[in-house]
Amino acid sequence: MSLPFVCPRCKTSWNLSEEDIVRFSKRLPVKCVECGNEFDILDGISEVITSDNPFIQYTLRSNFSILGTSEITLGQLKEVDLKEKLDEIHRIFLTPISTAPYPVFCEAINRGGSRFAILSSKLKDLPYPDNIQIGWVVYGNKQGFDIPLWRKLLSNAKGYEINGDFRMAIVELETAFEIFIVEYLRKGLKDKYSPNVLEHLFQHFKRVEDELTILFEIATGKTLRQILKEANQPKLYSKWQQHVKEKRDRTVHRGENIEEKEFKEGFKSVFKIILLLDPEALNYLYHFTALPDMSSK
Ligand SMILES: [Zn+2]
Repeated sequence: MSLPFVCPRCKTSWNLSEEDIVRFSKRLPVKCVECGNEFDILDGISEVITSDNPFIQYTLRSNFSILGTSEITLGQLKEVDLKEKLDEIHRIFLTPISTAPYPVFCEAINRGGSRFAILSSKLKDLPYPDNIQIGWVVYGNKQGFDIPLWRKLLSNAKGYEINGDFRMAIVELETAFEIFIVEYLRKGLKDKYSPNVLEHLFQHFKRVEDELTILFEIATGKTLRQILKEANQPKLYSKWQQHVKEKRDRTVHRGENIEEKEFKEGFKSVFKIILLLDPEALNYLYHFTALPDMSSK
């Protein structure tokens, strides 16, 4: 189980411990293991969100990874069946183990679900060994995990970002945010109103801005803007508005382009708002790793 985060000052990365999470729920700062810098966990997670390191990116994209090794014969297709069942595979990283000094070409073919194949060949006319070992890491979403819809959409947004499709990424990001907000409000309002009245309220206040003001006041006594101000994050509301909501509207209605930097700013803001409103949402951001998978040998 891991949730990486990065010190905003020295950029050292490590996984949040149980103790860090308790501190997070109490809104206490954590100390960097490397430089001693004290900082808000939210800012540490924000650093992770904007990381370009593919392994860190995929721990946010996917909720599960599997490590393993397979023996292959160069030039032959090797099929690999995973023991753990995944709903979808997002990415497969391959690393040939100790083939030096013989360079090897290898590529993974995603078969979907819980299978992939390794395509390989020799790159030089040298006396290669008959068989070589390939190490691999498969990132994906695990079957049977109870993942809220907002988390799935956030993961999709990350996937679009990795592929450089920032327009789709911003659409998915704003949808994730709006669905999270409705779920959050539902929890706060369900003891106050009967299900019929509740549905009527959501029908009537359709605009997300109305939900964040009127419905928030009914549910919590405060608007979202006030809650964020009290949490010492007064700019988060306008950041969401500018970088996500308005950008989404303009890209949907006018086809406006989105820059990578803008998307990352937006992703960060949405993440922070979700975690400030519901620290338990942290549990859905965790990444699980199965170690190691020898079934394919
Ligand atoms: Zn540091």
